[in-house]
Amino acid sequence: PDNIHQPEDPRYQEVLKQYFGYSKFRPFQWKIINSILNDKRDNCVIMATGYGKSLTFQFASVYTKRVSVIISPLISLMQDQVHNLKASNIEACFLGSAQDNMRDVKDAMFQGKYRLVYVTPEYASTALDDFKKLDYKIGLDLIAIDEAHCVSQWGHDFRASYRQLGVLKSTFPKVPVLAVTATATVEVRNDICRSLKLINPNMTCTGFDRPNLFLSVSPKSGDIANDLKMEMKKNGNKFSFDGPTIIYCPTKKATEEVVGALNGMSIACLPYHASLSLSARKKAHNSFLNDQIQVVVATVAFGMGIDKPDVRKVIHYGAPKDIESYYQEIGRAGRDGMPSECTAIFSKSDFNTSRHFISEIKSEKFREHKLKMLAKMGQYLSTTSCRRRILLSYFESGNLAEIGGTENCCDCCRLNLTKLKHGLPTLGSEDGPLDYTREAVDLFKAIQYTGSRFGLGIPCQVLMGSYSKKIQQFQASKVFGSGKYRSLKFWTALGRSLVYEGYLREKTLQSGYGCTVEMTPKAESWYNKVKQGKSGDCPLLLTPSG
Ligand code: ADP
Repeated sequence: PDNIHQPEDPRYQEVLKQYFGYSKFRPFQWKIINSILNDKRDNCVIMATGYGKSLTFQFASVYTKRVSVIISPLISLMQDQVHNLKASNIEACFLGSAQDNMRDVKDAMFQGKYRLVYVTPEYASTALDDFKKLDYKIGLDLIAIDEAHCVSQWGHDFRASYRQLGVLKSTFPKVPVLAVTATATVEVRNDICRSLKLINPNMTCTGFDRPNLFLSVSPKSGDIANDLKMEMKKNGNKFSFDGPTIIYCPTKKATEEVVGALNGMSIACLPYHASLSLSARKKAHNSFLNDQIQVVVATVAFGMGIDKPDVRKVIHYGAPKDIESYYQEIGRAGRDGMPSECTAIFSKSDFNTSRHFISEIKSEKFREHKLKMLAKMGQYLSTTSCRRRILLSYFESGNLAEIGGTENCCDCCRLNLTKLKHGLPTLGSEDGPLDYTREAVDLFKAIQYTGSRFGLGIPCQVLMGSYSKKIQQFQASKVFGSGKYRSLKFWTALGRSLVYEGYLREKTLQSGYGCTVEMTPKAESWYNKVKQGKSGDCPLLLTPSG
């Protein structure tokens, strides 16, 4: 059908407008809600941040005037949601140890007062009798499990209490279950469906790209204030960020150091980590939400459930833990869809702590999985090609060729565009593409000769016949110095474009940092044709604009 994204029956839109204030469903929202309300199906939903997950579990019971149970890992987040729902005239409550006057709340619940009942996963598995009674008296439309990736050990945020939630489907086989999250690899998705015992679930995956986030990486200089100044704008003598900013640090100690550096620049900020009192954390959270401070400097304890739509910058001061956590953490930037920036400032030694923790994991399979996640992070940080592609390739197996290559993608794409423009200056810019067959052959020779063991730098220096110590071992070869007819800058720029065009591939080192460059099958087959004297049929053409 043409319009799987909007209902035909106007009554749905009326409820949408009246209670939620929206005039239309966002893409995918109606498809999911329809499958819950009308087909009574289980749903597994992977929806990138900002698409509007909440509506997918809030709508059904508001429409039917029955009740839905929502399971979510964070009490403070649930309390916020209940508060906001009440403000839009939707009755909701929270059940759990943090709720006083439980008896009154429950009485009202069994009388059908609430459309939405929020509970923690711990509470959910002990409250089956309450839910049975609720189903019998009012009618359960839906059991929703938010942040469903917590079910999976293969995710970055496993919670044991989520493992018990399969009991919900066994107890209520007829009630649709909705599992929803912003991050899940294929492994995690499978785990979610299996562990929650979903029956023939309707799968929705919006894709993971967040085009409004600009990605970049820079090295630590040893001076925190200096590093941060690079991310700020200067007005007279005063530095400030462009808008609300979250700075993530790997340790509590690091948060205090960064707060110190920012205080030195008179920037209003507060720390947020698990050792602070609840009231100090609340104060940090609220001052940030209300724009009384521009910056929160936090450990990952500050995370799930920060519902501030206009966060303009997320900085990681210190290497992020792994690629999934990183995706989740930068997800807090730009939920309003406006351009926002995500920067990781790191040094190689930042990985030591993570590697140490991982080395202590007992299960070999699990240890290897964690190492793989860490290596992907290393690849993201050290790449000279598109960062977005690396990030997305962790979650999606589809064709990512369309991704990247623009000014607004990431620092590498931006740099490569300028390099291509300025690094290859005389190479036929306005006159269309030029043939780089000879140069490509020389570069491939140098890469093969040095054994595909290095990044681009070494083969390029070999071509230039550089007398640097590192390449002394290659002096005897014919390749040494064979590229003097071009500049070092040229060779590096050519290498970058060949990575771009899929002739070369960068591989992260086992250590998780740094990478080697090697020829892809595309390059091998091209090179073979050239060796057979068929280069005339397949000139290697490059345009300066990439
Ligand atoms: P997510 O959890 O996927 O980031 P939220 O449920 O927090 O998404 O919604 C993201 C933003 O989109 C919120 O500001 C919300 O008000 C808005 N939103 C959700 N659905 C719609 C809609 N149908 N029309 C307009 N705005 C919407």
